[in-house]
Amino acid sequence: MKNLMHTFSIYTFAMGRRQTLMEKFRQQMKAYKKKKMKVDNTPYLPPDGVVYIMDSLNPDKPIRAVVLKTRVKQKRKIIESIACPVCGNPMKWDDKWEGFICEKHGKRAIYEIVQPKS
Ligand SMILES: [Zn+2]
Repeated sequence: MKNLMHTFSIYTFAMGRRQTLMEKFRQQMKAYKKKKMKVDNTPYLPPDGVVYIMDSLNPDKPIRAVVLKTRVKQKRKIIESIACPVCGNPMKWDDKWEGFICEKHGKRAIYEIVQPKS
């Protein structure tokens, strides 16, 4: 009986370790996916140059954006700056908020790019 208990405790120890490894792996996968998604969130300029943005607080109304500045990275155009539709302030892309941010007209406004439906 004592032997059996010993085997059992080794077994649960191994299982616990296995779970820790699994958890570690899952977390790494999550971080990897997040990183990958972040890359996908780069505000690329569509080939026709027409960009719509929406106020994150008022997502039902897409607004035609005025693109002020772009840069080329790996043969793709990335939007660097968009004019704020309210006050005209040039807004820069913010990775954390995944949008263009204006803090010049009162409350902070976050404008997300409307992804074209395909
Ligand atoms: Zn503004």
